[in-house]
Amino acid sequence: MDQAIQERFSAIAPLIGHTPLLEIAFTFRGQPGKIYAKAEYYNLTGSIKDRVAFHILKKAYENEAIRPGDTIVEATSGNTGISFSALGRYLGHPVSIFMPDWMSRERINLMEGFGASVRLVSHEEGGFLGSIKMTEELAEKGGVFLPCQFSNEDNTEAHEISTGKEIAEQLASLGLKADGFVAGVGTGGTVMGIARALRRGNPSCAAFPLEPLNSPTLSTGYKVGKHRIYGISDEFIPDIVKLSEMTRIVSVDDSDAIAMARLLSETLGIGVGVSSGANFLGCLLAREHLGPQAVIATVFADDNKKYLSTDYAKPQQLTDSMLTAHIRLTGLRVIRN
Ligand code: PMP
Repeated sequence: MDQAIQERFSAIAPLIGHTPLLEIAFTFRGQPGKIYAKAEYYNLTGSIKDRVAFHILKKAYENEAIRPGDTIVEATSGNTGISFSALGRYLGHPVSIFMPDWMSRERINLMEGFGASVRLVSHEEGGFLGSIKMTEELAEKGGVFLPCQFSNEDNTEAHEISTGKEIAEQLASLGLKADGFVAGVGTGGTVMGIARALRRGNPSCAAFPLEPLNSPTLSTGYKVGKHRIYGISDEFIPDIVKLSEMTRIVSVDDSDAIAMARLLSETLGIGVGVSSGANFLGCLLAREHLGPQAVIATVFADDNKKYLSTDYAKPQQLTDSMLTAHIRLTGLRVIRN
């Protein structure tokens, strides 16, 4: 790799990863418990995807898969596009993002703010799958680098060597090992990579990929229904998801996920996105499976700021059937090492 580019990677590296781990104490139906969540909004552009974009671009430079001046072209539901926009422009590349047109306005503004061009793709044009097809068509013309986050094993590896390793180390500093890990599946890089890292310390660590109850792509294999947990369940099962390595799929209702994200914000001052609310609830479902003493970890993939134009901003009516209605958040401890 060219030395100037190498120096650029080294200069920005301290702003990616090494995020705090949050120990959140709660009661659920009156019973006390704890979960561990990695606060990924501490990354450069505010999401877990900075780790992926950084690792994919670094590997691409090392393998000469990307050349100076190449346009970075990616299909994304948001956070990956924001990360590639920031890092791609920082490394001197034009960035072109293809995204379904039903994602939040903040995402588009952020990508454009980082200097990328954004092409919105309607349902009629194929939505998510249409976006991926358009990136491939553009690449045929040459001068394009396609990160292909849904099929690129470097996505999984980014989480294995950074996010997952950090969670294992932070838990170890408390004398703990993970018994289970939960994460909503978009590309699946998070759940696959972190599960692999945690199983190094505890080979029987269970892995729970999470999907929206009202749009169960993982269980069915194709797009069903609609949901509001932005960033997960993108219409198909990505190549990097190996369900055979997973313990059990858990499903969370999108209204419940929104209510939980709001509860974290209203009670603990932890302003997270909707998928983080879903992941918290997924930990409760994993706990039912593993028992109340199990150490269960997850990620808070991003913060709430890019959901302010969505239903997240509206108070949710809690009903008895919602998990959130039975949760009290009672304490917070931050592990920062
Ligand atoms: N939550 C949010 C907010 C996301 O943007 C993403 C990535 N699309 C995910 C969860 C899922 O992460 P992964 O792609 O690693 O499965």
